[in-house]
Amino acid sequence: MTGTTLDDYTDRYARRVRGMTASEIRALFSVASRPEVVSLAGGAPYVAALPLDAVGEMLSRLAADHGPSTLQYGIGQGTLELRERICEVMALSGIDVGCGASPEDVVVTVGGQQALDLVARIFLDPGDVVLAEGPTYVGALGVFQAAQAQVVHVPMDGDGILPEALELAIAEVARSGRRAKFLYTIPTFQNPAGVTLTEERRERVLDICERAGLLVVEDDPYGQLSFDGEAPAPLRSRRRDGVFYLSTFSKTFAPGMRVGWILAPHAVREKLVIASEAQILCPSAFAQAAVTTYLASMPWREQLKTYREIYRERRDALLTGLADLMPAGTTWTEPKGGLFVWATLPEGLDAKAMMPRAIAARVAYVPGTGFYADGTGAGHMRLNFSFPPPERIREGVRRLAGVMEQELAMRQVFGAVGRPAARRRGQAAADAPDPGLA
Ligand code: PMP
Repeated sequence: MTGTTLDDYTDRYARRVRGMTASEIRALFSVASRPEVVSLAGGAPYVAALPLDAVGEMLSRLAADHGPSTLQYGIGQGTLELRERICEVMALSGIDVGCGASPEDVVVTVGGQQALDLVARIFLDPGDVVLAEGPTYVGALGVFQAAQAQVVHVPMDGDGILPEALELAIAEVARSGRRAKFLYTIPTFQNPAGVTLTEERRERVLDICERAGLLVVEDDPYGQLSFDGEAPAPLRSRRRDGVFYLSTFSKTFAPGMRVGWILAPHAVREKLVIASEAQILCPSAFAQAAVTTYLASMPWREQLKTYREIYRERRDALLTGLADLMPAGTTWTEPKGGLFVWATLPEGLDAKAMMPRAIAARVAYVPGTGFYADGTGAGHMRLNFSFPPPERIREGVRRLAGVMEQELAMRQVFGAVGRPAARRRGQAAADAPDPGLA
């Protein structure tokens, strides 16, 4: 077809496509990645800290010495060798044979993102409700929206999701006659909030979900990236049934591998494999062999320590910068691991509206609105500390503080403008493009 316009396609889209809009992170990416911009916006691990020569050598041998298998199709569930190694990795976090973890129940996926998509595919019908922390991972919101599910956010404080609020949300959903299928939670070093669910609350949250007949989808990409002692054991290590455990090698090894996994209750594993085969046939044999060999022959536990040390130093640089430079009235979380700090702006400042000015001042962040299904969250921003070196982080905070001071001064001169009303996710497509992001 030549000469067609966007309008020629619009009325042909499937219903699930109508609410699809580019994530705020994607819209920012092209500007935020310019070298003059200090980007606190992304979520990229610092892969330059890998022993790149050794990894390169390993990859070339995989093709030269094992090409007939590594360059071939594989099975939908993923190779047994990798699933066994994944069980060793999970055992490090306390998910071991004692709590029923077995290679048989592991499904290898294309990153944590496909793991999320598979769970959504097998459980969500249009109109179903997913309970999730507010704020939550933007990529999960995209998956749930594509499944035409409705996300009901449950608030957190510095200790993670609030059990009382979870109970209220479950009751409210039931009263409205809708069906909540699962709680989607990132209990450890949450993206974007950086907070961790306490030991005591872990038990309460699991009890509440069990009583309500709610499945738990535990997303844990960051649990092994702790800076100040070990993280609390995952929810899956405390319950065999009803908990789906999702993780990925993206943050502990390299996101370019696109290898993640689900540890599923035994009864469900087959459905996940069938859904995955329909979607991708099988995960990449080459990437699986690379991760397997990395885990078998390279010092991956040492690499984890390296990542932790680098990120601890960068987290400290960010927290110190915020404490030294942020205007009064700004607050932020103090993560004990992971990649993100969640900052709350002084009353009246709007992180989304401020973004073009921030970009002009050569600093980028992700406005909080990206992490809520209903477009609220404009008073917050997510700041990443894994990628820029400490001195760049401090410079980024200095630039950001300058922009905020200017906004506050303008408010004093021109009076409060107020934050725009919350929108439903999906309406953004109708808006004019943000001038700073075009
Ligand atoms: N879940 C969460 C909470 C994440 O932060 C991410 C990546 N940022 C993913 C899933 C997706 O992981 P992957 O890159 O392995 O697809």
